[in-house]
Amino acid sequence: MADGSSSILAMVLTFIAWFIGFYLYHGLGITLGYHRLLSHKALTVPKWLSYLIVSGGYFCLQGGPVVWVGVHRLHHQKTDMPGDPHAPEDGFIHALFGWMLGMKEKQSSEDLHRLCPDLMADPIYSRLGTTHNPVQAYACLGANIVFRLLILYFFGWIALVADLLASGMVFWSPQLVNTICHMPSMGYRLNDTRDKSRNVWWVALIALGEGWHNNHHAAPRSARHGFAWWEIDITWYTVWLLEKLRLCKNITRPPKNVMDV
Ligand SMILES: [Zn+2]
Ligand SMILES: [Zn+2]
Repeated sequence: MADGSSSILAMVLTFIAWFIGFYLYHGLGITLGYHRLLSHKALTVPKWLSYLIVSGGYFCLQGGPVVWVGVHRLHHQKTDMPGDPHAPEDGFIHALFGWMLGMKEKQSSEDLHRLCPDLMADPIYSRLGTTHNPVQAYACLGANIVFRLLILYFFGWIALVADLLASGMVFWSPQLVNTICHMPSMGYRLNDTRDKSRNVWWVALIALGEGWHNNHHAAPRSARHGFAWWEIDITWYTVWLLEKLRLCKNITRPPKNVMDV
């Protein structure tokens, strides 16, 4: 009996460890990789580390980095205006996931080349897709299936279930930022930006710091999104750790005038 309960406890602890590991791998893949590193160049890391971090986003069904970054840079150019790829004004469902099935204003291949010349020049990122065609989406889906079969083969079903749950939750975190953090009824604003961006604490917790979205729109190139000490920003703490380990440099910090407001 004692053996039975201790083996169940061991399974639960194993599951929790895998879940936390996969949540950070996929979550940071999006927030640190796709967003702060590739979209905004808020810091630089060695190429091998960039690929490793970004893989967490790719294996969380985010599609090719060029396409993701192209959509996100367009969002910053046209935030809450016509042409914003996922503005809540165009409908909550559209902002949450509908835009992925069909953007209101199609982003052409030429648009992506204009928005992402840096990533187009990268041999790996450019191979993962440079247009909004279904091929790159299916390639990402196929790679995600293979990734999970490998988890099952090498680490077993507990790891697989933990990854499915973690990546399923992480998948929705940028969608929450796109919708909740642009709705006037949610959270608060400390920065007088020209858009409707909001800081929402619970989105920040789920999305590893990305919910301090009004801060982000006020200082898009900043690697730090939580400006106040109590604005928890797991991605920023990771950047801090990488800096201590001498694994990143050229970190853009928020301007003094927006800190401690
Ligand atoms: Zn935004
Ligand atoms: Zn951004």
